[in-house]
Amino acid sequence: MNLPQALQNITHSLEAARAASPLAAPRISLLAASKGQEAAAIEQAIAAGITCFGENRVQEAEYKWLKIKEKYSNVQLHLIGPLQTNKVKEALSLFDVIQTLDRPKLADALAKQGPGKTQFFIQVNTGKEPQKVGVAPQEAGGFIDYCRALGLPVRGLMCVPPADQPPAPHFALLRQIARAHGLEELSMGMSEDYAVAARMGSSCVRIGRALFGERL
Ligand SMILES: *Cc1c(COP(=O)(O)O)cnc(C)c1O
Repeated sequence: MNLPQALQNITHSLEAARAASPLAAPRISLLAASKGQEAAAIEQAIAAGITCFGENRVQEAEYKWLKIKEKYSNVQLHLIGPLQTNKVKEALSLFDVIQTLDRPKLADALAKQGPGKTQFFIQVNTGKEPQKVGVAPQEAGGFIDYCRALGLPVRGLMCVPPADQPPAPHFALLRQIARAHGLEELSMGMSEDYAVAARMGSSCVRIGRALFGERL
């Protein structure tokens, strides 16, 4: 399947999800997860109308995106992979949104750079998986308060549910934590489960393989 066709299928599924569910967000943005994709594939996605992209690694994103961003000023770039504190400066200058804010030390390092244009999502480890990043669900409230007190513009929550479990309870938990703390945006849903996420209130689905095909 080519990219414009894949995009059309995804758009239709998102519209159907929105029509079918009272929990669905009024607007669901599609983030193209472009890790491992070359600039040519990214430019093809831009030509098809996609304006929001996600990268997992600061260095790969710098290498690929400095030129693309110059050329397409309306494109938004999100960081969706873990951020090390020694890459904070680069990340703030490159990314419009950092979706992986997940620990006080990182929040401190980001706040130290002063206010900028970058906005934040807090990543929640809804499955409490030891090998995964993200703040634990029971600590999310305290961490949201901590980030707000530092002046970081927190827009919402993000999660990556465990691969071996049905995602719906994780999406429900993320939504519940967000609502309890006055956060509107929910970044949840990937290639396998974005329709479920959309029905459960996702405002940002992050899609890689269903859009670009399998990664090499
Ligand atoms: C790669 C990635 C995605 C997209 O995954 P697909 O299964 O290819 O849709 C979404 N979110 C994060 C955090 C990712 O690393």
